[in-house]
Amino acid sequence: MKDSITLDQVKELYEFLQGNNPDSILMGKRNHPKMNYEKAYNVIWFLQEHLRVLPSSFEKCSICANLYDRASEGHYNDEKYPGKFYCTWCDHLAPEDSFED
Ligand SMILES: [Zn+2]
Repeated sequence: MKDSITLDQVKELYEFLQGNNPDSILMGKRNHPKMNYEKAYNVIWFLQEHLRVLPSSFEKCSICANLYDRASEGHYNDEKYPGKFYCTWCDHLAPEDSFED
């Protein structure tokens, strides 16, 4: 696993897949990928879980759909709410009983 890939780089990929091309990349607009955020995240998930080239701690927040690193922020409770992830900004919207003591 290449561990030098940062969250910001993966966010850039996430944006690119949704049609938001970084200014530094020259590519004809016709050829931009234009996925919705769910499809874009599925590409990232494939790179994380199947090819294992991206850190698996990068998650999509279940509320705002932003990417964050669950190893250092936000929270989830896999036992009570599997598949639900809350970034730091949306933490207050998580169910009370999803917080561990
Ligand atoms: Zn969020």
